[in-house]
Amino acid sequence: MDFQLTGQQRRMVEAVRDLAQGEFKANAQKYMDGTFPWENMKKLADIGVLGMSVPEEYGGLGLPVFDTALVLEEIAKTCYVTAMATLGEAGVQTRVIATYAPNAIRERILPKVVSGDCILAVCMTEPHAGTDVANYRTNAVIRGDRVILNGTKTLISRAREAGMFVIFTRIDGKPGREGIGCVLLEPDTPGFEVTGTYHTMGGENLHEIQFNDCELPLENLVVRDDGFRKLLNAFNTQRCLNPSISLGLAEGAFDEARNYVRDRTVFGKAIGDYQGVRWKLAEMYREIETARSILYRACMSIRSPILIWRRWPRSRATRCPTGSPAKRSSCTAGSVSPTNFRYRVSIAARATGRSAAAPPRRSAI
Ligand SMILES: Cc1cc2nc3c(=O)[nH]c(=O)nc-3n(C[C@H](O)[C@H](O)[C@H](O)COP(=O)(O)OP(=O)(O)OC[C@H]3O[C@@H](n4cnc5c(N)ncnc54)[C@H](O)[C@@H]3O)c2cc1C
Repeated sequence: MDFQLTGQQRRMVEAVRDLAQGEFKANAQKYMDGTFPWENMKKLADIGVLGMSVPEEYGGLGLPVFDTALVLEEIAKTCYVTAMATLGEAGVQTRVIATYAPNAIRERILPKVVSGDCILAVCMTEPHAGTDVANYRTNAVIRGDRVILNGTKTLISRAREAGMFVIFTRIDGKPGREGIGCVLLEPDTPGFEVTGTYHTMGGENLHEIQFNDCELPLENLVVRDDGFRKLLNAFNTQRCLNPSISLGLAEGAFDEARNYVRDRTVFGKAIGDYQGVRWKLAEMYREIETARSILYRACMSIRSPILIWRRWPRSRATRCPTGSPAKRSSCTAGSVSPTNFRYRVSIAARATGRSAAAPPRRSAI
């Protein structure tokens, strides 16, 4: 599989790298106490990054998963908290709204996601079940044109900042995985409460939240039939985006280690001049490059996970990575070509005073 980045992808990575290295890195410690990085989010919104998963018709870039992963990787090299906050706007929750919410909700919420004015939270985990989605107890009962939501979710990121909660819930008490669907809730809904806060080693705050007879309009029930399969499909995106943040963190740590072994001297020599230390770095580098290879390959093999089952014939989706050279190139992650992307990146390049055409720097020992 060819991991050659397109010119557009290189310009995008370069613009985000300039912002992250030039501005986020110096302030990263500031957000370790749970403070939400509003300042950084505004800057990312200005260059279009928060709209990576929002379709173009709502002002976003509609980028494929691979491009989104590249951007998150760059941000995570300097500031984990900002990378996680960006994932909140580019991850499963945005894709669920963009794919399943009625038009009125999409038109109201998605442009605000792009501008950074509506932070999203995804609520899956419950106190007794995380990965075991089929055992969730949160329940949404349909009564005429209303939906009544009850339950508790935990370890929820951005619960104090979110303007919209995307909630995986049982519908009408139907048991098992077939009973799982999805509702949307806004934080001013009576009966909604943030009931706990946990500070993590990474700096983020996670929260417990409760829904006590929260009454929602029926249009907020966005996934009802065949919900589990649809939600898992949407969640496949996340399986590539969370690891891109891990990869960026590892690269950031490697860069720090490399600088340290160059600067630190013992017995008149930099410690990086001793072979034992070089071996350690070589091992780190090997693991990073292995992770990158697996991740990029996974990203390029899915392109648009929600749409695969909806509009993309399975035979074409599975043939693509191993097809003819022509098919392979049409499968590269840059092929969506969002119309406003070049404009936004050129703004970013001008703002940072860097050439937009420069190729990305690769980590090297
Ligand atoms: C930084 C951070 C942010 C988070 N943000 C959110 C958020 O915004 N929204 C949200 O809903 N949740 C969030 N979570 C929670 C996260 O999604 C859950 O922790 C995760 O789903 C795992 O659930 P659990 O902790 O209940 O573990 P469990 O599901 O109880 O799993 C425990 C262990 O068993 C293993 N295991 C599970 N199933 C199997 C299996 N079938 N076979 C073998 N081993 C298995 C798991 O790998 C794990 O090691 C966040 C977590 C973290 C750390």
